[in-house]
Amino acid sequence: MQDASQIRMTTQRKTILEELEKVTSHPTANEVYDMVRKRLPRIGLGTVYRNLELMSESGMILKLEVGGTQKRFDATVHPHYHIRCISCGKVDDIDIPLIDNIDRNAADLSQYQVLGHHIEFSGICEPCSKSDEEDEEEVLIN
Ligand SMILES: [Zn+2]
Ligand SMILES: [Zn+2]
Repeated sequence: MQDASQIRMTTQRKTILEELEKVTSHPTANEVYDMVRKRLPRIGLGTVYRNLELMSESGMILKLEVGGTQKRFDATVHPHYHIRCISCGKVDDIDIPLIDNIDRNAADLSQYQVLGHHIEFSGICEPCSKSDEEDEEEVLIN
């Protein structure tokens, strides 16, 4: 990973970072664009997209390599795990201790120098499981 100081901190990047730090929802590029546009009305989606890519390449932010269809971004760059709702697709941080021996095990079992790992849990979030229950009740009534 490159040093975050290698890219220039422009107003656009600073604004993107500040907006990303405000949320824990792991927004998509489109969602970041909507947030940033409120402060920089003339910014384009392409610019936001390019900056997000550059910023994640430099290690300033995290690009989530998760099973969803859209890339998501995270201002929390230290290693942590995520859980994704299979129903609505939202991604939350999951605050469990890092499994560090997994990297060593993987290195032992492969010819690789292991640099890290990604774990994505999947499940059904609380609002989605509640609306599931409501659906079931309707079926029972009918
Ligand atoms: Zn959900
Ligand atoms: Zn996260």
